[in-house]
Amino acid sequence: MKIAFIASEGVPYIKSGGLADVVGALPNALAALGHQVITILPRYAAIDGNRHNLAQSVSPLGVWMGDALEWCAVQQARNGAVATYFIESDKHFSRWGLYHDADFNDYQDNARRYSFFTRAALQLCRDIGFAPDVVHAHDWQTALAPAYLKIWHWNDPVLGGSASLLTIHNIAYQGVYSFDSYNYLGLQDGNFTTDKFEDHGRVNFLKGGIVHADLVNTVSPTYALQTRTPEFAHGLAPYLNDKGERYLGILNGADYQNWDPATDPLLSANFTNADLSGKAVCKRELQKRFLLEVDASIPLVGVVSRFVPQKGLDLLAATIERMVIEMRVQFVMLGSGEKSLEAIFGSLPARYPGRIGSFIGYHEENSHWIEAGSDFFLMPSRFEPCGLNQMYSLRYGTLPIVRATGGLDDTVEQYDEASGSGTGFKFWEPSANAIYYTTGWAVSTYYDRPEHMQKMIQAAMQQDFTWEKSARHYEAAYRTAIEYKRRLG
Ligand code: ADP
Repeated sequence: MKIAFIASEGVPYIKSGGLADVVGALPNALAALGHQVITILPRYAAIDGNRHNLAQSVSPLGVWMGDALEWCAVQQARNGAVATYFIESDKHFSRWGLYHDADFNDYQDNARRYSFFTRAALQLCRDIGFAPDVVHAHDWQTALAPAYLKIWHWNDPVLGGSASLLTIHNIAYQGVYSFDSYNYLGLQDGNFTTDKFEDHGRVNFLKGGIVHADLVNTVSPTYALQTRTPEFAHGLAPYLNDKGERYLGILNGADYQNWDPATDPLLSANFTNADLSGKAVCKRELQKRFLLEVDASIPLVGVVSRFVPQKGLDLLAATIERMVIEMRVQFVMLGSGEKSLEAIFGSLPARYPGRIGSFIGYHEENSHWIEAGSDFFLMPSRFEPCGLNQMYSLRYGTLPIVRATGGLDDTVEQYDEASGSGTGFKFWEPSANAIYYTTGWAVSTYYDRPEHMQKMIQAAMQQDFTWEKSARHYEAAYRTAIEYKRRLG
């Protein structure tokens, strides 16, 4: 099959979250299965053109928006077997951030920026004569692609036969904008209705994408079920339910090239499930790095996260002191985001020296150290479409303590105290108490049932969430999308 990925970020060029990992890995996994995949990204100022050998491609590219013709250039690079194109428009993408400025204020013209990018990506397919069997769009930023295909390109010699798949990586972000930009978007007046783009007088990109896509998926089976309910869907449950069988969940893969304790170059000692001595070295180093008491016998709980309400770290903040006071346990935290949480977690090491360590900011190397050197990895998320860190933790023999939601529920198997089976510790209630008691359960297992710990570590390290497995599911999804397009037009 020929597949065009249209996305707002992708590894190794530009990353702000898990979406970039998917857009970096999945096309290569599909190419390995024999498919021809191209990826189209915006040419952000933050992309290092020299490092990635960006070369000029089609230029200029004329893009019809609803009320104007705009011009842009295109650059090109190669990521493994996948050709990647970059839509270059200084007006839209030559600025500090991807979606917001340095103070986390969303750019006011995001509706224009990403509708332009999406239309330009489709125009690029036409100009280079790449006729995709499937256009694969991601999140609100490119959710208009399925709509543009149906509204503008249904009869096009290049794009007329293209089916569309829209992947929702996080339904909390929908791209909802004022009506002012509607003419520019080129979605046609008759489509500003509640069953398409209209959302309380505003334009909702993701909703329009869901309605128009031949097939929609999200990144884990449980999150697919949850987002069919009002509690999780942020208003879009009716539209997802309307899709019926055309909405499904496909679990993300984990990138074991970058996240494998046997080969991880960022660690000073490597290890496998057959020889865990390197993990003990990593724990000692991690304790030293974060100025914790260097003692192999104290259980160490790691956290790496964006500090946003989704991740439930406010609940952890409410109980972490009680835990270090009442339990013989250490914590190491890495993350950034909400200023109030940065202040709390940033100040705890001074108040509990030797027991809590933290680093406020983004730090790739520390994240590997925490995965490798911790005994447990805590993710108390309120919701989690898939989650990557728990998959990495499993591979590093670091047992996840997770709220049983979304992908966390799908990837972690609950500990059974009778048999010692399982790969982690799950709780259901989003509360500080649940974090307290479940962490306590993990800590008591560490002290009282070390043989169960060893059994779980072995089971955890043998879990396999390869991208190849996910790619096969996507392959089937593409065929389904093509079939629906054939049947329903
Ligand atoms: P989300 O995409 O919602 O942030 P995921 O678990 O899917 O959550 O992916 C988060 C990714 O970002 C992981 O690879 C994680 O290690 C990384 N990450 C998050 N915060 C930091 C940080 N402060 N430093 C280094 N890596 C981080």
